[in-house]
Amino acid sequence: MNIVARVSDEIETPQVSMEIDPRLVPVLETVRRRNPAEPEFHEAVERVLRTIGPVIDKRPEYLEAKLVERICEPERQVIFRVPWIDDEGRVQVNRGYRVEFNGALGPFKGGLRFDPSVNSSIVKFLGFEQVFKNALTGLPLGGGKGGSDFDPKGRSENEIMRFCQSFMTELWRHIGEYTDVPAGDIGVGEREIGYLFGQYRRITNRYESGALTGKGLGWGGARVRREATGYGTAYFAQEMLRAKGSSICDRTVTVSGSGNVAIYAIEKVQQLGGTVIGCSDSGGYVHDPDGIDLPLLKQVKEVDRARLDRYVQERPGARHVAGGRVWELAAEVALPCATQNELDEEDARKLVENGALVVAEGANMPCTAGAIGTLRAGGVLFGPGKAANAGGVATSALEMQQNASRDSWTFDHTEARLVEIMRDIHHSCYEMAEQAGVPGDYIVGANNAGFVRVADAMLAFGVV
Ligand code: GLU
Repeated sequence: MNIVARVSDEIETPQVSMEIDPRLVPVLETVRRRNPAEPEFHEAVERVLRTIGPVIDKRPEYLEAKLVERICEPERQVIFRVPWIDDEGRVQVNRGYRVEFNGALGPFKGGLRFDPSVNSSIVKFLGFEQVFKNALTGLPLGGGKGGSDFDPKGRSENEIMRFCQSFMTELWRHIGEYTDVPAGDIGVGEREIGYLFGQYRRITNRYESGALTGKGLGWGGARVRREATGYGTAYFAQEMLRAKGSSICDRTVTVSGSGNVAIYAIEKVQQLGGTVIGCSDSGGYVHDPDGIDLPLLKQVKEVDRARLDRYVQERPGARHVAGGRVWELAAEVALPCATQNELDEEDARKLVENGALVVAEGANMPCTAGAIGTLRAGGVLFGPGKAANAGGVATSALEMQQNASRDSWTFDHTEARLVEIMRDIHHSCYEMAEQAGVPGDYIVGANNAGFVRVADAMLAFGVV
């Protein structure tokens, strides 16, 4: 049979008990009771609690110090009104959030998401994930997340600027280079960070570059930051294959999404010799058997800010499937890079049937719990987002390093650091999974490795 079957044969399906440790059941119950009607947050906590049995067994002092309880409770949550005036002169009111989840390892760090789906549950789930992700990078970063239910779609440049200014008029008092360092996420890119930074500077009267990351290159931004999440995801998938004695080179790859993460995951997969045959947006997906034409995709998505059907107008060999899901396509590597819960059990079944070898999450929690179960049962290697997409926040930490030393690194130097960090993250997850007796289980590896780093720092600080 072909190389796909050969590599599949080598993959041992990780055997791990997904039963929650009975000692952690009351913690989950408390989280559910304290945070009613927050399903995404409950799910993110449950997924971690189900997998940290190995370190809890080894380190009973964590239980005595109530570290699991403490890690599940955000240090601080800020919810605020964001009033602004639209182009018609009407007053609009949105809600702003910043959840400073855990600062044991460094200033709170994590993106801002502007999307109508944003609520307390989404911000808390993202903040909780961020704590472990940031710990895995090995860099001095706490975890947090924020955003607003503001929908930037269809808004003018001026409206976006006014919204960002109003948002920062409250947020500034909660952030700072040693306190909390926001960045971008869905709906917040370099343009929005510019407006946010401009208002922060104006209010504080300080050119404090380290207070925000994802800045433009001309005003304190870092090279590779824009590409970092997508590049890092491709590198992580490559490491997963390398650990199996294989490579992403010559593999077929599908990517969901066509935003920042997806575009640069595609770019790096192509540079590593893989062929990306499909990508998607909320309107459907594109199948391009010859491999995605990246300059055309960038033109459509980054310059024209148009829908994906525009891509096939310029590319005769490609087809657009309106309303379809890109996971229908047979590919050896799948990189979900759009948003949470976008890949369900049915999608996972198709991936398994079509011989997928690796799924690595470029987005945060894009695979449902059911999908992960199906992928694991089908022998597919699974790289969870908190490890696979950590390249973005890691490069934010590199931006903070450059800001602190008023330096500016070259693209190559920055990318070399990113590669090193992604390899280290892979190594930590891989080793931890081995130690836990579940080789190849990157979920157990990532959750335990991240947890230990945060817990050990908290233990050292006493009950604070
Ligand atoms: N929003 C990104 C993430 O989910 C990046 C956060 C950052 O750079 O602070 O990790």
